[in-house]
Amino acid sequence: MIGLYHDREIETMDKEALSALQLLRYKKTVADALKTPFYKKRLSNVGLESAEDLRSLADIKNIPFTTKEDLREAYPFGLMAVDKEEVVRMHASSGTTGTPTVIYQTQRDLDRWTDLTTRSLVSVGCHKGDIFQNMMTYGLFTGGMGLHYGAEKLGMMVIPVSSGNTKRQFQLMKDFGTTVVHATPSYMLYLYSKMEEFGYKLSDFKLKKALVGAEPHSEEIRKKIENLFGIDAYNSYGLSEMNGPSVAFECDQKSGMHLWEDSYYMEIVNEKTLEEVPDGETGELILSILIRTATPILRYRTRDLTSIIPGPCSCGRISRRISRIKGRTDDMLIINGVNVFPSQIEEVIMKMPEIGTNYRIVVKKNGLLDKLIVQTEVGPSIFSDDARDMNALKRRIIDNLRASITISPVVELHEPGVLPVQEGKAIRVVDERGESK
Ligand code: ADP
Ligand code: ZN
Repeated sequence: MIGLYHDREIETMDKEALSALQLLRYKKTVADALKTPFYKKRLSNVGLESAEDLRSLADIKNIPFTTKEDLREAYPFGLMAVDKEEVVRMHASSGTTGTPTVIYQTQRDLDRWTDLTTRSLVSVGCHKGDIFQNMMTYGLFTGGMGLHYGAEKLGMMVIPVSSGNTKRQFQLMKDFGTTVVHATPSYMLYLYSKMEEFGYKLSDFKLKKALVGAEPHSEEIRKKIENLFGIDAYNSYGLSEMNGPSVAFECDQKSGMHLWEDSYYMEIVNEKTLEEVPDGETGELILSILIRTATPILRYRTRDLTSIIPGPCSCGRISRRISRIKGRTDDMLIINGVNVFPSQIEEVIMKMPEIGTNYRIVVKKNGLLDKLIVQTEVGPSIFSDDARDMNALKRRIIDNLRASITISPVVELHEPGVLPVQEGKAIRVVDERGESK
């Protein structure tokens, strides 16, 4: 599929041209930011009184970081950089951890976002004539509407079904010959586990691709989705503060996600020292948006952990690639003093063919010590009443986990369909240690 671009000129421009474009757009964003009370104060503190004070991309390092807390403080209008009448859309984060954060878009802002989502869809081989069933939640959450407009612009037929209602999803997939779906990876696996129960089989469908995102998932989960459905699955990354989906997207090479650098300025820093880390090293992703006038956001601390994949991609696109998101900086569990990322546990268990489509990590207090419990469903043919078989499987899971995270967890095996499932983002970790952790 090499050579199929949505916008060849932008996608394959050389490094110098890209840097020049970034500087131009960054200046414009600083000019917009200076129109907001929030950034006017912030930027004048570091001597940035006008966009012209930003002379080179290297100067960006002097701009203070923006945090989720800052966005909350600016709620509701502190970051609006245009007249209210110019705003045609707003989106807000789910607000599960406090005051929500809000972003605004002008029509031009929306058009530019749409263009990026079209680009992302083209990069994984979607085209006019595809039937696109969008299983991401529509509404204030950006996941649903984000890809909707880009898919229409490309000429796909969009089925805007939103999330949930699994029976309906199957029926639509079958009746309309859905070729591409967009969903969370955990929902894709759930969907598969319910297929038989709702009376469907794979040959009822014409599915070719799944675009999966909105939550961390390992390469093993991708492979599982691909193998179970017999399709290609592509990783899609975004966050509402940066518009939503299509900040970074895999291309058909499946070798990392191109972070669209003409539209977002990226840095990866050590999350403690906040110093830039070399390519290949994991750190916190920092993003500035270069394509939105209504809500400029500079050097946003995403809390997402990733790394830059060194070297060019064979697809020819100039935008550098980031690796699969390892989790958020605040995802890390400390179990009896040992640092564990949930993604490490997922990687180990999902490599084992006996494991089913859902799992959960529970952490409890056991006296003074922490107790790590890994609950996992096993495949339908694996679950048996033979305690010896089950115990042997448990033993192997524990051994594999210990080899990776140096801790021996308690492992619980469950029948398929028993562990809880969420309609939106999966909740993989239940930490019951309360204040004492
Ligand atoms: P929130 O979850 O903070 O309310 P969003 O709905 O905008 O906000 O979700 C954005 C977050 O979802 C990202 O910061 C990231 O942590 C996670 N996310 C999105 N896409 C992916 C992906 N492909 N892989 C891993 N994590 C993702
Ligand atoms: Zn590529």
